[in-house]
Amino acid sequence: AAKDGGRGRHHFYAADLHSDAEERRLLEQDLRDALTHGGLELHYQPVVHTATERITGFEALLRWQHPTRGWMSPAKFIPVAEDTGLIAQIGEWALRTACHDLASWPDSVRVAVNVSPLQFANPALPAIITNALAAAQVDPARLELEITESVFLNDDATTDAMFKALKRVGVRLALDDFGTGYSSLGYLKNAPFDKIKIDQSFVRGATIAGSRNGAIIASIVSLAEALGMETTAEGVETLDELDLVRMLGCSHVQGYIYEQPLSVAVATQRLMTGLTAIARGPRAARAAR
Ligand code: C2E
Ligand code: MG
Ligand code: MG
Ligand code: MG
Repeated sequence: AAKDGGRGRHHFYAADLHSDAEERRLLEQDLRDALTHGGLELHYQPVVHTATERITGFEALLRWQHPTRGWMSPAKFIPVAEDTGLIAQIGEWALRTACHDLASWPDSVRVAVNVSPLQFANPALPAIITNALAAAQVDPARLELEITESVFLNDDATTDAMFKALKRVGVRLALDDFGTGYSSLGYLKNAPFDKIKIDQSFVRGATIAGSRNGAIIASIVSLAEALGMETTAEGVETLDELDLVRMLGCSHVQGYIYEQPLSVAVATQRLMTGLTAIARGPRAARAAR
């Protein structure tokens, strides 16, 4: 039941007791509390250069230690944050925290931060990013923003102006979850992406070049190469998937085959043992036999 350590309300959540609306209202209150008193963390998943197996950077992923429900997935609380507008504050916190952590890592390491469509629609976003970079004294080229296709649902001229403003700030841009959203290739023509992230749904279980997923990955890679963009295969879990995305020419790989998202302390420790990544885990071992 409700526990109060002087840090605000902690709610009792029993699935049957609350309607969806009530559940969201309670989550919203607890998220506000987490922003003020702590509870949010960024975890960092290594991104590996396929050809050299060097760690080139990390993707920052939000984690929330909920006071009564334990670790909660961003898939659950990001939508609530978006509906309530709280994503603006959470997103700014994530940008500032990522820049702060990045400042303590080698210059060759980058960090990618996910930016929600609501943040992208905020004209103040370039200034928020500039301030976060300046506060941490980090080179803008070390920060990558991950944006999903849904930003293209908004007005063309506004979207275009935001892309230009972000490039003027000097950050890198990645198109996240490519192929799952509102897909029109038209926007790739003008949007200044540095990287396309191939969604896990195409990568998972893809082991044969001639399979449907293999064909989709190959065509995304050739499109990206023609446009001068890098590619990251997301969610690579097995050695067979790694072999395929390597053969198909994905420039970068991210997935449990190398590392899970790591706490900032473990990520820092990980960098001190060197930048070489090693494919491993039970599935790597099983596939290797
Ligand atoms: P995403 O940006 O596409 O992030 C990749 C997700 O795949 C992460 O889930 C990551 O933990 C997971 N993943 C990585 N490798 C593997 C793998 O080998 N196998 C499997 N099964 N999963 C893998 P996570 O951390 O639960 O995040 C889910 C989504 O929440 C993210 O998808 C992103 O859309 C959103 N999110 C996370 N952090 C933030 C944030 O700071 N801001 C915003 N706006 N959204 C965020
Ligand atoms: Mg992402
Ligand atoms: Mg993704
Ligand atoms: Mg996603």
